[in-house]
Amino acid sequence: MSKFADLGLKEPISKALVDLGYETPTVIQEKAIPQILSSTEDLKAFAQTGTGKTAAFSLPIVELADDQDNSTQAIILSPTRELAVQIGKNIEDFSKYLPKLKVATVYGGANIEQQIRQLKKGAQIVIGTPGRTVDLIRRRALKLGNVKWLVLDEADEMLNMGFKEELDKVLDATPETKQTLLFSATFPREVEAIARNYMHNPVEVTSGQKNQGSDNVTHEYYLVSERSRYPALKRIADINPNIYAIVFCRTRRETQEVADKLIQDGYNADSLHGDLSQAQRDSVMDKFRKKNIQMLVATDVAARGLDVDNLTHVINHKLPDQIENYNHRSGRTGRAGNKGISVVLVNRKERGKLNPIERILKKKFIENSIPTGKEICEKQLFHLIDRVENSEVNTSEIDSYLPNIYDKLKDFSREELIQKFVSLEFNSFLSYYENAPDLNKMSNDRERGGSRNGRMPSENMTRFFINLGRKDRLNPAKLMGLINEQGINNNVEIGAIDILDTFSFFEIDKNFESQTLDAFSSNSPEFNGRRVNIEITKERKGGGRRRGGNGGGSRRRNGDNNASGGFGRSRNNSNKKSFPKNDNNKSRNSRRPRRR
Ligand code: AMP
Repeated sequence: MSKFADLGLKEPISKALVDLGYETPTVIQEKAIPQILSSTEDLKAFAQTGTGKTAAFSLPIVELADDQDNSTQAIILSPTRELAVQIGKNIEDFSKYLPKLKVATVYGGANIEQQIRQLKKGAQIVIGTPGRTVDLIRRRALKLGNVKWLVLDEADEMLNMGFKEELDKVLDATPETKQTLLFSATFPREVEAIARNYMHNPVEVTSGQKNQGSDNVTHEYYLVSERSRYPALKRIADINPNIYAIVFCRTRRETQEVADKLIQDGYNADSLHGDLSQAQRDSVMDKFRKKNIQMLVATDVAARGLDVDNLTHVINHKLPDQIENYNHRSGRTGRAGNKGISVVLVNRKERGKLNPIERILKKKFIENSIPTGKEICEKQLFHLIDRVENSEVNTSEIDSYLPNIYDKLKDFSREELIQKFVSLEFNSFLSYYENAPDLNKMSNDRERGGSRNGRMPSENMTRFFINLGRKDRLNPAKLMGLINEQGINNNVEIGAIDILDTFSFFEIDKNFESQTLDAFSSNSPEFNGRRVNIEITKERKGGGRRRGGNGGGSRRRNGDNNASGGFGRSRNNSNKKSFPKNDNNKSRNSRRPRRR
């Protein structure tokens, strides 16, 4: 009998768990399952992805739901379609020997009529993304009057994505008597506010220390300049020939740019972000799961639904806007008992952002120097030799050619043959790296540009001043929401956001400069009762800007959760990693005398 039965689960469920190969409950399951089974008290659970949290809240619901009653008894809200589908599949697996228990998964970007028909047939357990759930409630297709359990999965992520209003609406549509189960990897103020406002004296359970990352993850950082950020990423990949990593970026544009460069440079990489159609995203995720892609460049949101247990690295090409999200990212590695490395690329200004992360993690980042060309060549060379040593020889396939080959090479000694073979395989790598600069020196150079009093806007961006700040309860998500509401253009790129106490700054794609001014002036929006004013920040003589901002960040684009299609993508990946182009932009084959 599985140890799950000891937690009080009935036979059909224990049997399904045996089929799934679940033997021992994880920490969060051990704590949450008996609690939910034995009490109707609300529950606040600190759990990251990979801890087994889905089963922790689903199994008690499957156990307790009344399969004789067709009404919806459990509503599970999840931030993304992928995660919702994954939860739905898990619950179907858990309830496979309970045929009367029906599960429906509803999410945006799919045919709503079909989902309405499915709900009409009756589903005791409904999993939904917030927007679609509210839509279905509004159409009276989803009735939550009999709900006994409301699960908020990855509550922090739902709030990050700006779903606060939707959460409020779903919470309002459920009866007071329900049991609320809130699962979150981090508990920033907004999540605590949900817990305070909608839960009654919740019991707290945790799969580890609050917000603390996995013990199996080492945290490292590399100091880069903007010029060396991408070359440093390539070198990290080159020094780890077996890398299997997610490279996190903050915006869709950054994601696509980094992925395009990696692909162009011959890496086995691809991108995952909200500009791709669902079919494209499914295909990329499938390839990544099968390891046909070694490096997946992704936005935080798009990577949420990806369930991969054996990543060697998580790479933060740029740190996330909210430091709590670092935990989410780094938690993608070091799962299921594996060790993992979370790498951060930071410039001098960004380095300070590591301090609060260290306090949350209760761990220090290790500073690493960017590998030199020589170190990479050495590593790659021995990797090649290891592969030779361990390769299996299938003589039956090459038998017929061997006599001719032996004959052709008979005049070379063993040493000469090894030298020739290594040169053949390795010369392009050596020549690629022979004149490569020391990127650590580049990173220590002062960044060019910038100003003392304020940040220069990124290239092609216009920096705006706005008369709202922290005191008005403005945060980056709300500011993005406010900008979106002005109807400037669906594709307008929003850049760095700096929220200060009484005012803030944001960047907008230069091409939309006048449209942004016009939209704000004709809409005259208000925010928390204040009339909103924006103006373009002016250059000062000497490069300073009129109003100063601090803080980091680069471009972002509105939202990342709508799966609109139509993005032209190159598809020339082969399963084989070829040699990268030189950091110096010199041709791979340009041979120059070594300067050492
Ligand atoms: P989750 O944190 O819910 O996303 O789960 C992470 C992974 O662990 C999923 O692939 C689950 O199927 C798997 N898993 C969850 N609980 C167990 C368990 N008790 N034993 C084995 N695998 C599990």
